[in-house]
Amino acid sequence: MYPDVIIIGSGMGGATLAAALAPSGRRILILERGEQLRPSQHDRDAAAIFGDGVFRSDETWLDGTDTAFSPGNYYNVGGNSKFYGAALIRYREADFEPTQHDGGTTPGWPIAYADLEPDYQAAEQLYAVRGELGEDPSEPAHSGSYPYGAVPDEQDIADLRERLKAAGLHPSSIPLGVNLADWLAGGQTTWDAYPNTCGGKMDAETCGLKLALAHPNVELRTGCRVTALTTGAGDRIDSVVMQTEGKSETMTAPIIVVATGAVQTAALLLASANDNWPAGLANGSDQVGRNFMNHNCSAVLALHPFRRNRAVYQKTLMFNDYYLGSDGQPPLGNVQMLGKITAPILAANSKLPVWVAGWVAARGFDFYAMSEDLPNPDSRVTLMDGQIKLDWKRSNWVAHQHLVAQLKKVLRRAGFPIVLSQPFDRRTPSHQCGTARMGADPKASVVDTFCRSHDHKNLFIVDASVLPTSAAVNPALTIAALALRAGRHILETELAP
Ligand SMILES: Cc1cc2nc3c(=O)[nH]c(=O)nc-3n(C[C@H](O)[C@H](O)[C@H](O)COP(=O)(O)OP(=O)(O)OC[C@H]3O[C@@H](n4cnc5c(N)ncnc54)[C@H](O)[C@@H]3O)c2cc1C
Repeated sequence: MYPDVIIIGSGMGGATLAAALAPSGRRILILERGEQLRPSQHDRDAAAIFGDGVFRSDETWLDGTDTAFSPGNYYNVGGNSKFYGAALIRYREADFEPTQHDGGTTPGWPIAYADLEPDYQAAEQLYAVRGELGEDPSEPAHSGSYPYGAVPDEQDIADLRERLKAAGLHPSSIPLGVNLADWLAGGQTTWDAYPNTCGGKMDAETCGLKLALAHPNVELRTGCRVTALTTGAGDRIDSVVMQTEGKSETMTAPIIVVATGAVQTAALLLASANDNWPAGLANGSDQVGRNFMNHNCSAVLALHPFRRNRAVYQKTLMFNDYYLGSDGQPPLGNVQMLGKITAPILAANSKLPVWVAGWVAARGFDFYAMSEDLPNPDSRVTLMDGQIKLDWKRSNWVAHQHLVAQLKKVLRRAGFPIVLSQPFDRRTPSHQCGTARMGADPKASVVDTFCRSHDHKNLFIVDASVLPTSAAVNPALTIAALALRAGRHILETELAP
């Protein structure tokens, strides 16, 4: 088929966009580097996933010191969302405004929260989000309710919720894209960082892509790694060059969408440099690859020697008491439960002997403290002899240290005498974003407010790379909302009958 639109990447951005465009009847071709994840013996095997890294690709990137590392970045149909924790949280209204942080001031977005609210609402419907309005004082305005009620706390987490309330916090239910019965039917584990092969998680494949592929005009090709986009002397993207089973192939379409994730999108645009666009495509602003952000995160484990945590999935509770800042304190971030840390996970991520890890895991309540990473042009993705170099310059780290210190204090008050913390590895780019940022000024940004490249009118970038700020909540719902907004714009301006 000769497509009207080529979408490169079937993750959160690409799949959601495909769902938005599909009803137009136009021919949409999705090119995905990976394959569909099939059920396997490792799907619920913590030692295989966290110890042996069986689902990791064999790709290596370089860090800021030119040291090679294996990034926790997944290449399969549905992208990283197949492994995600399915926390589908909206940015707060204040996240769209310039905000003073401990580590500097964020620039604000070129659109307001109100501009994206209808798309957040639609994204929550598409990803069947389960949540409860009115519990979280920092919650932004919602024009409708969640499609389903919140995923219930397990008994020990319900007790924890009461303890946190008694300590003066305002815990609320994490908005989640999980069908609990379906997930647990596949095995008694949490879902965070486990591959979704049973359909229990609402991810880019089970929701966005499924809806898109129900239309006969949408086709998915897997095992197609796009290596370059080409242009002539003009401002249009002419074609897409890809590798399929070792063979090079070129395809063309009037509209090209790059949705390969923040790091790979920057790498693809930079790798596509040609005589007409020597700095790379869409890079008239010199911002492609810059402003890489990834959240400052720590695992914080609270325990009482005589109290067990029997939770299986655990990830139902969060609080935002420190999110917006108060009493002269700058914004510190979000705290949410991690998926349950079990003995094999703890042993794989620490030097603890397995029996000690088992004792701790049986008692530990595991929190995820997340603070905003601020955009910095020197925090960037570049290519070194064709290999990806990710030189992440962490920002706002002092605010994160404050968040962890506050969390430890309040957890002790809530009845946990032992509280341990460990920052997440710098080389885990789970919440990567910012490398092709959205803005009104073509000199300072890569795409406009509808994700269209300032430089190439037939090129759209629809993934985490367009986020101008990282906020301090998980990114996927915002990526989906932006994809729906871009989809509406493409339908109105490019695909109108
Ligand atoms: C363990 C883990 C837990 C997470 N938990 C959460 C959470 O609870 N909530 C949340 O909001 N976010 C979470 N995230 C982050 C979330 O998954 C990502 O923000 C989101 O998937 C990013 O969407 P994207 O469209 O930018 O990229 P992706 O979803 O990564 O999609 C990119 C796609 O492009 C494909 N691709 C890449 N390069 C090429 C190429 N050259 N040619 C063709 N195809 C290509 C990839 O294979 C992939 O399918 C988590 C991530 C991880 C890893």
